[in-house]
Amino acid sequence: FLIDYSPSWSSIKMRIGFIGAGKMAQALARGLINSGRIGAENIIASSPKRDYQFIDQCKTLGLTTTHDNSEVVHKSDVIVLAVKPIHVSKVTSEIAPALSREQLVVSIALGITIRNIESLLPTKSRVVRVMPNTPAVVRAGASAFAMGSACRDGDAEIVKDLLSTVGFAVEVPEVQIDPVTGLSGSGPSYMFAAIEGLADGGVKVGLPRDLAIKLAAHTLYGAAKMVLETGVHPAQLKDDVQSPGGSSIYGMHKLETGGLKGILIDAVEAATNRSRATG
Ligand code: NAD
Repeated sequence: FLIDYSPSWSSIKMRIGFIGAGKMAQALARGLINSGRIGAENIIASSPKRDYQFIDQCKTLGLTTTHDNSEVVHKSDVIVLAVKPIHVSKVTSEIAPALSREQLVVSIALGITIRNIESLLPTKSRVVRVMPNTPAVVRAGASAFAMGSACRDGDAEIVKDLLSTVGFAVEVPEVQIDPVTGLSGSGPSYMFAAIEGLADGGVKVGLPRDLAIKLAAHTLYGAAKMVLETGVHPAQLKDDVQSPGGSSIYGMHKLETGGLKGILIDAVEAATNRSRATG
């Protein structure tokens, strides 16, 4: 049932290396493998010895693993910086001596600017900043990426092609990366809370919990799919399902009394500001 954003089904002839083997690296690696376009044998991930659980999880996915970040650089065409923002400058300085201009560095770290990363790498290093989200794990991610000053023609296509294996991908100016973080980067957690709330409502009016969660999740999924596939404005789709005096408008009245849209706007703005403050 997933929407296929992949530009083509040809395999990707590239080795991908993840510096950091945590949740996001695994989500992206799993999405890439599940797309069938890149084999697990072409993906390597590193993590320090103390974080052995991440290494074990990556081994289960079939990835090559190491504790040595330089090994990732030696064995990859595209190097993804997938560590927490606080560790970015340390790992970037560490890999700098092993990096060549033939390699592309892709950072997914929250709030760390392209200029920041470029300043720690050899001059003319090709840097891309990506804001992905966790639904990449089921190939329904939404990623935006911004290109660094030394990127070449074709680099944007490489990144879009890779990210498209795990969902929707779009190039944006770097100034939009923080707003993207506030919306799609952080948005899955808002929508999990929405699913939980709808399911609680279902349970309150008598549905079994399992069924309520499934119905709530399919409802969000279906609504999103209608927006994407029909191209009709969401306000129009909302109006279309509300018959005069029907149950939907009664429910909608409650949502608006609670300020649903205002709360969502506040959430995106707060997360955007948080991302800006991290940078
Ligand atoms: P995580 O804690 O799950 O993973 C971090 C990984 O970095 C771990 O494997 C850890 O062992 C490793 N690490 C720590 N120090 C290291 C070092 N010196 N060398 C190599 N590896 C090291 O974190 P995560 O949730 O996967 O987030 C990773 C990045 O992705 C962050 O910068 C975050 O801002 C960004 N991001 C996360 C999400 C999300 O939804 N989780 C969404 C968008 C972007």
